Amino acid sequence: MSTFKNFARTVRAHPAAINRPRSVTELSQYLQQAAARHQPVRTVGAGHSFTPLVHTDGVLLNLDGFQGIEEVDAFTHEVLFRAGTRLWQVPALLKPFHLALENMGDIDRQSIAGAISTGTHGTGLKFTGLSAAVTGVQIMLADGSHMRASSQENPELFEASRLG
Ligand SMILES: Cc1cc2nc3c(=O)[nH]c(=O)nc-3n(C[C@H](O)[C@H](O)[C@H](O)COP(=O)(O)OP(=O)(O)OC[C@H]3O[C@@H](n4cnc5c(N)ncnc54)[C@H](O)[C@@H]3O)c2cc1C
Repeated sequence: MSTFKNFARTVRAHPAAINRPRSVTELSQYLQQAAARHQPVRTVGAGHSFTPLVHTDGVLLNLDGFQGIEEVDAFTHEVLFRAGTRLWQVPALLKPFHLALENMGDIDRQSIAGAISTGTHGTGLKFTGLSAAVTGVQIMLADGSHMRASSQENPELFEASRLG
């Protein structure tokens, strides 16, 4: 049986499976498989949340194999990151494009998706949390299909995604 423990060891779970998709196609396949088996699905980033957000006896998805940059828009400076990218990786990934995050928390081990989803913030009254910098997302739905969301496209889904 698989065991999940969060970073602070305040949460322990025994998921039926821990799947590690490395591509959008694999992610979709795992979701379709879980749906066919009527298994609930949770996604874990770095497991730094103190609360049981990713506690499940169903399927736990770990996106450590899905990291890095997908697209860079040199004109708008918008960058599409894969969800499993860790915050500590972001500066080196952005450097070749002469870009940087405006702010960072004191701990940088979190995944970009986990940090955005929970409203993770750095310090300083004049800076927003990471989720405020998000201009769009690509979301995989429970049936394995995916869609885009931004303030112009599926705006309700966009707001729910950038701060869960
Ligand atoms: C030592 C320590 C220091 C911290 N410092 C700070 C700080 O300075 N500032 C601050 O604001 N917070 C801080 N935190 C809190 C931490 O940043 C948040 O708990 C954050 O969620 C952790 O990101 P994670 O990748 O570990 O996400 P997880 O804890 O693994 O997951 C968090 C949530 O995101 C969801 N999620 C993860 N990946 C995906 C995905 N690919 N798609 C959809 N949903 C997803 C999960 O299902 C879950 O609901 C700290 C925590 C620790 C343990």
